[in-house]
Amino acid sequence: MLNFSNHNTSCFFLRAAGLPWLLAIDAGWPCTLFEYARHMKSIGCALEEIRWAVVTHFHMDHAGLVSELLSRGVTCFVFENQLEAIDAMERTIGKNYASYRTIDREKLVRVSLREAQGLFRGIGVSARVVRTDYHSTDSISFITGEGDAVVGDLPPLENAMPGDRRLRENWAALQESGARRAWPAHAPAFYSLAPMTDNRSTRR
Ligand SMILES: [Zn+2]
Repeated sequence: MLNFSNHNTSCFFLRAAGLPWLLAIDAGWPCTLFEYARHMKSIGCALEEIRWAVVTHFHMDHAGLVSELLSRGVTCFVFENQLEAIDAMERTIGKNYASYRTIDREKLVRVSLREAQGLFRGIGVSARVVRTDYHSTDSISFITGEGDAVVGDLPPLENAMPGDRRLRENWAALQESGARRAWPAHAPAFYSLAPMTDNRSTRR
């Protein structure tokens, strides 16, 4: 799993099979394209290689660069439960970043969660998308064919309070969809999902 962390937030990339193109998963903070490109270089990638992008949810630390990627010709997919979260994100960004340009909604490619697997297969990426809406209603997790799950801001299962059914359900859905390791956005470690506990590893 290609990734880097910028301002304590990870961005991930998958290479399309047999192609020189990348799918970006989560797109960093607003107005940080220069830093983003520099970090990409440090992991052996180039900004120009990004052909597609998805985000785990529309909060500004995860989707802040979607508008800039779109304007560079990147195809940005938006899942059915995510569209309505964009307005709120952009209101918050607008208060904090004077130079932010809004997302051109017309350019977003809408995808249902059910279609996602087939769509990604079509671009050479083996992946599933699961709704994991504990953190926010628009949150999804992106699970690769190897079992790496980019989970955005989903809290670890160990944080579940007694009776916290939804968090347990989110993790159960991940496991059922083949997730073996979880890659949170703001923590350097990943959690092994087998068994479904908090087996943290420092490998990274
Ligand atoms: Zn976040």
